[in-house]
Amino acid sequence: MNFEKVIDIFLFREGTDEEAEVTNQPIITTGSVVWGVLLRSAILMLLSLFVIEYFDLREYWWLLVFIIWVGAAYPGWRQYQKFQSRMKTFQEETLCGSCIHLDSTSQLCKIYDEHPTRDYVPCEGASWEPRHFDSDIT
Ligand code: SF4
Repeated sequence: MNFEKVIDIFLFREGTDEEAEVTNQPIITTGSVVWGVLLRSAILMLLSLFVIEYFDLREYWWLLVFIIWVGAAYPGWRQYQKFQSRMKTFQEETLCGSCIHLDSTSQLCKIYDEHPTRDYVPCEGASWEPRHFDSDIT
C-alpha cells in the first residue's frame, strides 16, 4: 500500500467513476472505510490524549468520545452509505453485478481475484453464473 493510498483512506477520498475505470480498482470498499475509521480514531485519540494531558483537562475525558464520533465514526458511516449506493448501481447495471462470484463488499471477483468495473469483466463473461434470487444484494 503506497502513501497516496493511505492518504486517500485517511481523507475518505471517494474518487470519481472515471478514475475507477482507469485504474480498474474501486475507490472505496468496506475495507477502506474500516481502515479509514481506525486510522482516524487512532490519530484523534493520540492528539486528544496529548491535549488532555498537556492542558490538564482530565475531567473532560468524555469529549474524546464526541471527537471520535464526529471525526471518524460518522464520516466513516457516511462513506459506507455512499459505497452501498454505488454498489447497488453497479449490481443493477453490470454483468458482474448479477454474477454469483462477485463479492459485493469489496467489488471483487472471487474466482479471478480482480476488481471488475463497468468496462472491465475479468472473465469476459465465460465464468458468469446468475446470482440466486434470495442472495444478498448489498
Ligand atoms: S466470474 Fe466473470 S462475470 Fe462473474 S464476477 Fe467474475 S469476472 Fe464477473
